[in-house]
Amino acid sequence: MEVRRTVPVTLDVESDDAALLEDTVDTFLWCAQYVVDHAFQGEYVTTSKTQLDDETYDDVREATNGFNGGLVQAARNKAAEACKSVVARWKNGKKASKPRITSPHIVYDHRTATFHDDYVSLATTDGRIEADYVLPDGDSDTPHAEYLFSDEYETTGAELHRKHGEWQLHIHCKKEIETDTPERATTTHGTVLGVDLGVNNLAVTSTGTFWTGDEFDHWRREYEKRRGDLQECGTRWAHENMQAVGRKEEGRFKMTLHRIANELVTEACNHECSVIAFEDLSDIRERTGASWGHKWVFNRLYEYVEYKAAEYGITVEQVGPENTSRRCSHCGFTHPANRESESFECQKCGYQNHADYNAAKNIGLRYLRRNQTGGDEGALLGVRLNSGIVNVNGEYESPAEISARTGVHAESHPFTGG
Ligand SMILES: [Zn+2]
Repeated sequence: MEVRRTVPVTLDVESDDAALLEDTVDTFLWCAQYVVDHAFQGEYVTTSKTQLDDETYDDVREATNGFNGGLVQAARNKAAEACKSVVARWKNGKKASKPRITSPHIVYDHRTATFHDDYVSLATTDGRIEADYVLPDGDSDTPHAEYLFSDEYETTGAELHRKHGEWQLHIHCKKEIETDTPERATTTHGTVLGVDLGVNNLAVTSTGTFWTGDEFDHWRREYEKRRGDLQECGTRWAHENMQAVGRKEEGRFKMTLHRIANELVTEACNHECSVIAFEDLSDIRERTGASWGHKWVFNRLYEYVEYKAAEYGITVEQVGPENTSRRCSHCGFTHPANRESESFECQKCGYQNHADYNAAKNIGLRYLRRNQTGGDEGALLGVRLNSGIVNVNGEYESPAEISARTGVHAESHPFTGG
C-alpha cells in the first residue's frame, strides 16, 4: 500500500530567477487557459486528456515559442481536471461556468524538476534555474526531516506556489508500506464507520463518539482577540507580529486536528471498520452554516484521517450529503420536522437520538447502499455502532446475531447507541 505526504518548502530565489519564474507561471496559466477555451469550443466540453493533447499540444508549443513540453502537458492536465469538475457539477444539477485558470502555481514532475537534498532544479521559460530550500534549523521533528530527507520516501512531484511575494514548493512524497493485514480493505466482513462533521460537534461517529467544537472556538477567539490588540497599535511591528500570531495559532490548531484524526482512526481500528465514510465536503458551508474557518478545519481533518487511515488499510470516502440530517436512520422517513437543532425525533416511527449521531449513521448507511452491488469492498456487514451494526435495511443486529448469521465473531461492547 502507498502512503502519500506533502511537504511545504520555501525557496530562496535570486531576483533574476524570480523574474523568470514569474514569466513561467504566466505562461503555464496561459497554456492551461488556452486548453480550457479549446475544450469549451465544441457542442460538448472535451475532458479527455488524450484528445485535448492531440488537439492543442502543437499549437500551444508554437504560440509559446517552445515552452517546456512537460510543463505544457502539466498545464493541459490541469485544464482537463478543471473541465471535468465543471461537467461533474452540471451532472449534479449545479451551476458552473467555464473555468478561469488564475491561481498562480505550476505543477512539476520528474521531467520538469530535479529534487536534491537541499535544493531543487526547475524548468522555466528559459532553461532551468536552481533554488535552495529554506529549512528550519536543527529540528529533527519537522516534516522535512520525516519525509523529505527520509530514504523511505520517494519524491513524486511538486507544485510551485507564489504567495505574498514568496516562492513555495509543495513537494509530494510517497512510500510503500507493508501492512500486517493487507487484505483488510477488501475483507468481505468489513463494517463502515460513519462520520458527521459540524459546527457544534466537529465530528461525531456512528459508534457514538463525539469531538466538540469548543477547542476550535477557543483558538479562534484567542486569535481574533490578539489580532485586535495588535491591530490597534497599527505599526509595522504590529503587522509582523500579527502574522506570527496567525502562523502560531494555525500550527497549534493543526496539532489538535492531528490528535482528533488519530483518535478517529483508532476508533475505526478498535471497531474493525474497513471504511470511514464522510459526507461530501464541497458544499459543507452552505449546508451547515459553517464559517470559512470551519471549512478549513473540515478539509484538514479529512486529509489527516485519509493518510493516517491508509497506514491501517482503511479506505476513506465521501458520500452524497443530501438529507443526512433529516432522514431517520431507523426507518428512512425523511422530513425537515424530524430535526430540531441537536435532537432528532422521527415523525413516523418515533426514533429519537442526538441529531449528529443520527446523521453519522445515515452517512455510513449511504456508503453501504452505494456499495452493496459490485463495489470493491465486497459485502460489507453494515454500519458500525458502539456494539453491533445497523444493516443496509436500517435494522440493528447485535454481536450475537452477526456471528450467528455470518460466523464472524464481533467483539462485545456495552451497548449505548442504536
Ligand atoms: Zn423513523
